[in-house]
Amino acid sequence: MNRRTFLQAALAAPLPLAAQTAESRAPRNIRITGVEVIVTNPEQSPMGNYVLVKIVTNQPGLIGWGDATCTGSDLAVAKMLEEHLAPGLIGQNPLQSEMLWKRIFYLPYYRSGSVHMSAVSGVDMALWDIKGKVAGLPVYELLGGKVRDSLLTYWSTGGRDFKQVEDGVRRFMSEGYKVVKVQVSAPGMEGGYAVPPTEKQRAAIQAAYEKGMPPDEVWEPESYVRILPRLFEHLRKTLGEDIGLLHDVHERITANQAVALAKTLEPYRLFFLEDLLPPENLDTFRLIRQQASTPLAMGEVYVGAWEGHSLVTEHLIDYVRHDLAHCGGITTGKKVAIAAEPYGILTAWHGPGNISPITHFANCHVSLSVPNFGIQEESRGWGPKVREVFSDFPAVKDGYVTIGDKPGLGVEVNESAARKYPYVRRLRPAIRRQDGTPWPY
Ligand SMILES: [Mg+2]
Repeated sequence: MNRRTFLQAALAAPLPLAAQTAESRAPRNIRITGVEVIVTNPEQSPMGNYVLVKIVTNQPGLIGWGDATCTGSDLAVAKMLEEHLAPGLIGQNPLQSEMLWKRIFYLPYYRSGSVHMSAVSGVDMALWDIKGKVAGLPVYELLGGKVRDSLLTYWSTGGRDFKQVEDGVRRFMSEGYKVVKVQVSAPGMEGGYAVPPTEKQRAAIQAAYEKGMPPDEVWEPESYVRILPRLFEHLRKTLGEDIGLLHDVHERITANQAVALAKTLEPYRLFFLEDLLPPENLDTFRLIRQQASTPLAMGEVYVGAWEGHSLVTEHLIDYVRHDLAHCGGITTGKKVAIAAEPYGILTAWHGPGNISPITHFANCHVSLSVPNFGIQEESRGWGPKVREVFSDFPAVKDGYVTIGDKPGLGVEVNESAARKYPYVRRLRPAIRRQDGTPWPY
């Protein structure tokens, strides 16, 4: 299944050009006539399914594209859009994005959660795309205009030992990066977050994919929290003080280990330490904040502006890191940034390769327009088939990201290319401790 079309032409089809009048083209008369969803996996890769939303209007050629990708729940999001949200959009004016956000948020009654909110996010981006195209302006102009011309960015390198990590950082530094995310294997572990697996683990992952099952991964946090400060000691000794370094814990340690780790890493002056704990343990951030000055970033699994809001109002973190494909789109991103600004908390929107380039554009539009921007994670290495499906990509040069000035989001989808590459089931690993206990990410 790679294409779903819903409620196409539920209202009148677009007016033929001859019937167009100034009145019919007036913004108040624009109406949504269809919502389509394409689930595509151009590289047929793990975590490479993209859920794309196309909103069609009664104006010839006026469409909007959004990204509702939610890795691990891709088909559920497509069905959410198909059955439960699209009918609430037909006949509505797409320029009323704020009203429509609320309308489809309350439509299911049992609301929120990653599936619903990814669907809302995709619709929201498509509505902003349409708004920009009607105005003839890039979305960042509608959000207040550029506060800066380019966005500080980073990308990650992971290794099975310190030298591999050091070599990776040097490679990015030679390309002009000012900040690099570093990950290292924990001794004795076959896999880990954002590090190369052993050959044994690689074979186990492949075998699980072939059965359509989640790969099994064993994780014990103690050796990881012991080795991590030694990695940063090595990197500061060999690379000096000028390179910005950040690290993602990916929620894989206990609350007590999180407090100790944030304290132990202080001398190495991280750019930030990310996802120390799951969102279920927000209270623990108070303990960490009282004892450590290591900058903290949090938020990629939040599904709304309300999640983690107390981390902002109590100033327990330094960077808000929502994923605009899961938290409610551009509308939520702008609101989160505005809420964080009085506290001096900066933005660092989530920007991995497992969300589509459409979200990367959405990230950039918000990041360009907010005063309290910190850094923008930007993916790199999009494969040739992804480049066949999407018309444009943010450009990375000398450690900064830029986007163009096309009206709307600035990226279109080649639908016939997208339909060639169907959904692929590639489940995320099921992580457990050695005794079998299921463990966070
Ligand atoms: Mg993270």
